[in-house]
Amino acid sequence: MSKPVTHKSLSTFLRLVSQFEPQTIRFNNRLFVNRNLRLTSISRVGFDMDYTLAVYNEAFERLAWNLVLETLVRDFAFPSGILRFEYDPRFAIRGLVVDMTRGNIFKADRFRHVGRAFHGTRELEALERKDIYRRDRISLSAEDCYLVDTLFSVPEACMYAAYVDMMDSRPGTRTAAEYTAAYRAIRAATDQIHRDGSLKSRVTQALQDYLDVDPNLSDTLVQFLDSGKQLFLLTNSDWNYTNSVMSFLLDGVNPNFPRWTDYFGLAIVGAGKPNFFTTHEQIPFQEFACDSGKARVLSGGCFTVLREMFGGSGGSVLYVGDHIYGDIVSSKKVSTWRSCMIVPEMAAELAALEKVSEDQTKVDLLFRHRQRLGVELNYQQRLLNFLVDLMNDSRQDEWKTAARELRRLGEANAAKIFEELEETERQMVDTQNRVLAHFNPRWGMLFKEGDEHSVFGAQVEDYACVYTSKVSNFLSYSPHQYFTGARDLLPHEIEL
Ligand SMILES: [Mg+2]
Repeated sequence: MSKPVTHKSLSTFLRLVSQFEPQTIRFNNRLFVNRNLRLTSISRVGFDMDYTLAVYNEAFERLAWNLVLETLVRDFAFPSGILRFEYDPRFAIRGLVVDMTRGNIFKADRFRHVGRAFHGTRELEALERKDIYRRDRISLSAEDCYLVDTLFSVPEACMYAAYVDMMDSRPGTRTAAEYTAAYRAIRAATDQIHRDGSLKSRVTQALQDYLDVDPNLSDTLVQFLDSGKQLFLLTNSDWNYTNSVMSFLLDGVNPNFPRWTDYFGLAIVGAGKPNFFTTHEQIPFQEFACDSGKARVLSGGCFTVLREMFGGSGGSVLYVGDHIYGDIVSSKKVSTWRSCMIVPEMAAELAALEKVSEDQTKVDLLFRHRQRLGVELNYQQRLLNFLVDLMNDSRQDEWKTAARELRRLGEANAAKIFEELEETERQMVDTQNRVLAHFNPRWGMLFKEGDEHSVFGAQVEDYACVYTSKVSNFLSYSPHQYFTGARDLLPHEIEL
């Protein structure tokens, strides 16, 4: 005999069922779609580790900051005064460009138009900026520019700015070679602390201090596994570090998967991305003998060998990573793998966007109003030109008189439209400034520069099939989800 249904059990049942009611997924938990992605067509899901599965916090950035400063003083003959530099986590964002020859940092839009620039920590005046960056088209791949494209390299930009200030405070004029050498030294010191184990040994001693644990990570991986997908890890980190970090994140979280390796059929460590994807050599994997539980652990290797191991179509692999070049661009260039880019800093960006949504709508309306006024003004000006020609050329006096009268009215109309245009512009600037006050005070929005996509925003749009702030956002969707984006429209289709 079945148990009677009590009020309490019924309400629990309803609560459990109601979580599957159609509901709007919170903004911060959404995946955003550049290219349609059908999860049912995906048989393998690969993950990068650092800043993708393992998200580092501000304490980690401060630890790296201090170790780089100490390395610069000890191994690169930098003055000990730099040890007093303060780290400002809001100073820089991804997508900035370091102009090494000038001691400048700038943000550009997708057309390489520089919208904001700093020399050291001093913002360049508009005239100064235009004088430097409007003469020639800027090449981001130039020897003297460095694109801040990883979360690891964001603090470097802050350190460089502080050091440029210090260099400038000395008597005399600094040369391009000095500014360049300073940035290259900071880059080299950063690489050194990552390579020589000094950063990793400190992190593994106190993982809880440096990593943000996502409580939904295990459930997200299990959802992929339950829907028949195989998971693999593809990281540049070595086995010991990978094992420490992944154990910290996943061991013992789910009784059915006691060790982190129980989630992954394959773990590739020391991969050497982006070279892993872009190399033309056939680099074999090294089988890595270790206590890895269920996962097979390989090190090194390259994409073409991995593709042979996987067999089948590359289109059935979804790769999830945070590095725009190492994970997303380089894999997209050589493979048909689908890609999901993790942008951890989006969480704050989305929260700000939600707050300014009303003002954003107002900016859009003002933008369209400005366009309409422009059309109107153009019409009035063409009419006035025609009337002036008529007054000069016509042999009929009554036409000349009528044209003169119409011209007077037309000029009054044009002046009114012009005034309204100026007022609309003013309101647009005020509203845009109000919007920008919610974003990074120096650099504004991560994905935008002015009205255009920023360099970073354009890269994400061009290369990532989908993007989101964290891996566990997949949990908000069914494993059979068909992610569809807005229809891609060119301006002439939008205006139709
Ligand atoms: Mg990474």
